[in-house]
Amino acid sequence: MQKEREALREVRNFVGGVWEEPGSEATEPVYDPATGEVIARTPLGGRGELDRAVAAAEEAFPGWAATPVTERARLLFRFKMLLEEHSDELAALVTLENGKDAKDAAGEVRRGIEVVEFACGMPSLMMGETVRDVARGVDNASYKYPLGVVAAITPFNFPCMVPLWTLPVAIGAGNAYILKPSERTPLSAVRMAELLAEAGLPDGVLNVVHGGREAVDAVLDHPGIEAVSFVGSQPVAEHVYKRGTDAGKRVQALAGAKNSMIVMPDAVMDKSVENIISSAFGNAGERCLAGSVVVAVGEVGDGLVERLKERAGAMKVGPGSDPESELTPLIRDVHRGKVRGYVDLGEEEGAEVVLDGREPPREEGFFFGPTILDRVEPGMRVAREEIFGPVLSVVRVEDLDEAVEFTNGSPFGNACSIYTENGAAVRRFRETVEAGMLGVNTGVAAPMAFFPFNGIKNSFYGDLHATGKDGVRFFTENKVEVTRWFS
Ligand code: NAD
Repeated sequence: MQKEREALREVRNFVGGVWEEPGSEATEPVYDPATGEVIARTPLGGRGELDRAVAAAEEAFPGWAATPVTERARLLFRFKMLLEEHSDELAALVTLENGKDAKDAAGEVRRGIEVVEFACGMPSLMMGETVRDVARGVDNASYKYPLGVVAAITPFNFPCMVPLWTLPVAIGAGNAYILKPSERTPLSAVRMAELLAEAGLPDGVLNVVHGGREAVDAVLDHPGIEAVSFVGSQPVAEHVYKRGTDAGKRVQALAGAKNSMIVMPDAVMDKSVENIISSAFGNAGERCLAGSVVVAVGEVGDGLVERLKERAGAMKVGPGSDPESELTPLIRDVHRGKVRGYVDLGEEEGAEVVLDGREPPREEGFFFGPTILDRVEPGMRVAREEIFGPVLSVVRVEDLDEAVEFTNGSPFGNACSIYTENGAAVRRFRETVEAGMLGVNTGVAAPMAFFPFNGIKNSFYGDLHATGKDGVRFFTENKVEVTRWFS
């Protein structure tokens, strides 16, 4: 029997500056993952809602695009101040709907604000290029323009930060923007839209349409939407990229991951173990940058597994709202079932379950205990597929070349880390490993807002990544002008 909180939070679509009454009866329950209670219901919008949002965005676009970039930047400064003022509230919302701990939630809000700060520099970011006198009396210049109506489709695991990867850049560049947040975590998006309206954003420049698959397909098919930024799982990213580009849209689709952490024999073990634990089990492993495979090089295997087991086994499992909690719940019970299925599969494939979290560590909520699978072989599915839970696999190899060969056998290429004090090993790693974000003695190689979020292989579909200058290029197009004067 589903428990439901007495006062459910409201989740409405935001269209043309109006918080609409839900048009459809269909809803998706939103849970507090720490208790399993229903805390809200997301309306599952479809084509009708999306059509209205595109119409509102199309109406708002010309005026917004014609607003001087300095004024658009000033609005982003106001938005940043409001995000700062409300950062504790936003972090608490993230913990409530996603389950992650207060430190991770605060970190996510901070990372999101950093993209707003980057976008506050939009007057510089929108600069074109000029070359004078390309022939006698002839100048050549380029100018940047917004695209029109653009959309973003976001995942559950960073309900505040991932929308902020694109929202400030897209609107700062003069586009009108439609956000389709994860139906499992819609609350942070609603609050951010309220804050942006409070900052003075004209009606229709930001619209929020809630929903699931149907709303996504409506975005992909809509002729009024010029570009789509997607972040989510690999199969959906591939679908979004193919269907969106087929419909003539510009698409960037950031996808799933299976990141390895290579531990060299000279690694500083105490610090490395702490860092690996936080990468693998932070946010319950529900991060696209989570290190989910440790590749133990040479003789480090036995000692490393012993230390990881001891440290992970001692983690305090509990709700994100408790500052003592180190391992927080998964997003849903069905996802917990999937994670459990992977541990069963690993065991069947011949891996050794040296730490077993399958027995739920708490009665209420969607908790899963810390789990370590040792002696995982490269051909096993648990070595190659994204589990997205607190399950760490250990693969043992002879040397760095074999570690890189294992890593490069992955269809994914989001991130990879190495733990060592040896510069030559780091250089060899950087030159040979197939991953777009590299960490040296850090297990979560998250780039700052002014760099691109840089997955490769099946972790990314498209050409221009989110954030950094790539993000600005994604949401703009150029006109190149050749000028001469006859008089
Ligand atoms: P998801 O793919 O289930 O959902 C993402 C979005 O797609 C949601 O808005 C959802 O409504 C929509 N969606 C879901 N199924 C769909 C379908 N069949 N057709 C059309 N749309 C659909 O992803 P998630 O579970 O919310 O997020 C976790 C995944 O996102 C993980 O795989 C993680 O690695 C990935 N992720 C990647 C990055 C990155 O930068 N590469 C960042 C964060 C998360």
